[in-house]
Amino acid sequence: MRRAPKKASDQDVSMRIVEDPNEMRELGDAMRRAGKRVGVVPTMGALHDGHLELVRRSRAECEATVATIFVNPAQFGPDEDFARYPRTFESDAARLAECGIDCLFAPHASSMYPEGHSTFVEPPSIAAPFEGQVRPGHFRGVATIVLKLFQIVPADVAYFGQKDYQQTLVVRRMVRDLNVPVAIVVCPTVREPDGLALSSRNRYLSGEERRRAVGLYRALRLGAACVEAGDRDIETTIDAMRSLLRDHAFAPADIDYLAIADPETLAEFAMPERPAMLLVAARLGTTRLIDNWLVP
Ligand code: AMP
Repeated sequence: MRRAPKKASDQDVSMRIVEDPNEMRELGDAMRRAGKRVGVVPTMGALHDGHLELVRRSRAECEATVATIFVNPAQFGPDEDFARYPRTFESDAARLAECGIDCLFAPHASSMYPEGHSTFVEPPSIAAPFEGQVRPGHFRGVATIVLKLFQIVPADVAYFGQKDYQQTLVVRRMVRDLNVPVAIVVCPTVREPDGLALSSRNRYLSGEERRRAVGLYRALRLGAACVEAGDRDIETTIDAMRSLLRDHAFAPADIDYLAIADPETLAEFAMPERPAMLLVAARLGTTRLIDNWLVP
């Protein structure tokens, strides 16, 4: 079913909503010809303040900003939440228009993956551990859709969130390895007042799960404090983080990974070193959340 709106609201007539990739490329080319620096913010919609921070950063740094909304089927595994992923297009479009962006690109799956589409990006090796191990094929789907979006939106700069830290490494390596002329900017993770990282998936959480979810943030902060103090070995630190997660009713089987790694290579540390990236992924019921914390 095609969406009708060509404007997001009566107040904001300046934001164009484009569904067709060719039309998007023409519009982007026109922005570039007009001498504008173009920023792009790729998202899957169900927008929250974390997404909007990326948009605001692009607005501050570029003369034209394009946000994209596309729930990319290629990055979901067969047993994952593609079908139930929240789709809130009307309110997303209204929030983006309020931010003053120039264009929202919201293609249909049939134009991104037309019948017979069979070309995919082999992601860089940094995609192998952590998310890559738990979600086989995920980064192949991410790399493919990001490259496709870069081909369609002729952006100078693309904005991503640190929240999906491994994804930022995958995208950075991909643009370097494939000579894609887009600068990658990574923005800090936006959090709830209690520290929980904003995520489109937080809306799946029951009240009880939401209260437990802050355990992820607390475990990261505890681990970071240990690394900063420099007085414990990695195993002791990870044990302390696990025990804190247990206090928040996470069973060992709920934790997909909990690691302290090199922020560049994602190689897990045997001894505390700095800078260090602390990474966690865990499930609360049927909801899977990830988070990370950098010790500089
Ligand atoms: P998604 O819609 O979940 O694919 O996310 C789109 C972009 O928003 C990605 O670059 C994410 O890393 C980023 N993002 C998601 N949550 C946050 C957050 N809490 N703070 C900052 N950026 C975020």
